[in-house]
Amino acid sequence: MRLLRSAFEHDRLPHAFLFHGPRGTGKEAVAIELARTLNCPTGTWEACGTCPSCHQMDSLQHPNIDLVFPLPTGKNEEKHHDPYEKLTETVIQQIRDEISAKAQDPYHPIEIKRASVIKINSIRNIKRKASMRVGSHQRHVVIICGAEKMKADAANSLLKTLEEPSPGQVIILTTPTPDALLPTIISRCQVIRFDPIPEEEITRALVQRELCDEETAAALARLAEGSFHKALEYSDPEVRNRRSLVVEFMRAVYAGNTTRIMKELEPVVSARDRQEAIRFLQALEDWFHDVIAIREGRPDRIRHFDNREAVTRFAQLFSGISCEDVLDEIEKTIEYVMGNVHLTLALVYLANWLHQRLQPPS
Ligand SMILES: [Zn+2]
Repeated sequence: MRLLRSAFEHDRLPHAFLFHGPRGTGKEAVAIELARTLNCPTGTWEACGTCPSCHQMDSLQHPNIDLVFPLPTGKNEEKHHDPYEKLTETVIQQIRDEISAKAQDPYHPIEIKRASVIKINSIRNIKRKASMRVGSHQRHVVIICGAEKMKADAANSLLKTLEEPSPGQVIILTTPTPDALLPTIISRCQVIRFDPIPEEEITRALVQRELCDEETAAALARLAEGSFHKALEYSDPEVRNRRSLVVEFMRAVYAGNTTRIMKELEPVVSARDRQEAIRFLQALEDWFHDVIAIREGRPDRIRHFDNREAVTRFAQLFSGISCEDVLDEIEKTIEYVMGNVHLTLALVYLANWLHQRLQPPS
């Protein structure tokens, strides 16, 4: 951060940065902050936070900031099209929602359904955007979130853009895995490493945001492994609900009562939202990771920390179950769910599969 500040104050800011470090260490939060600073008319390192430019940055609606992230490919889309041009209204709405979630919490990772690759269209668009910058002293800031998600075509296109920088434009790449980038791209960027955030700092931030009491915050910070985003996720009420759902689901599975299983799955399947089903399955995976943690004598790693007793009892009762097999089976179910398989069927099948393995030692 000191490096950034000094470059800024000496007016020697490079035109490209690479921020790398584990997920949730604030790479994009800092990038957004830099965009705010570069556009606030006060011209000081600390943006004022009250001017129209700062307000527009708060909502990420400023014309001088652009976030690049994986997008689905639209129907009949070609490389020269604007990256948004061929997308459906539903997708555009989802993008709007994700950007506004990011505006509210810069630690929120933007994820668009059925999108895993940064399109070449989005990279080609960067140069065009440079010419649309507003304010001659301001900078147009492009943040490429998860730059490792560029395939060769997009990466080569970005390389060209970096080789011929547009005046007034700053490009910031963020990634947890810099090794996945072309060395020629890295060499054109000022590289800044983000370290995992210390536990005490995460604890303090959670308490400050009034998300939980200090004891819970400390437990969350331990689990978060230096990622503030992870800590936020664990403390999110929605995620908590999902965790209690897993407990109820496991009880129903043990009882082998299909009616009850269906009832517990109701909130997961009713929205017909495959992403929600996947999140549920991931929480279920966490349950078995917890069992492994307990077996290894690492109870501080329990992710279902609000149901610590239940998961500990489960681990004792079913000491013979192979968590690796279960995790494999859940992974398979996640793949099915991502495909086109019937949601309820896939989950009920998994429940039955699990039930057969939940026999306490006699
Ligand atoms: Zn300002």
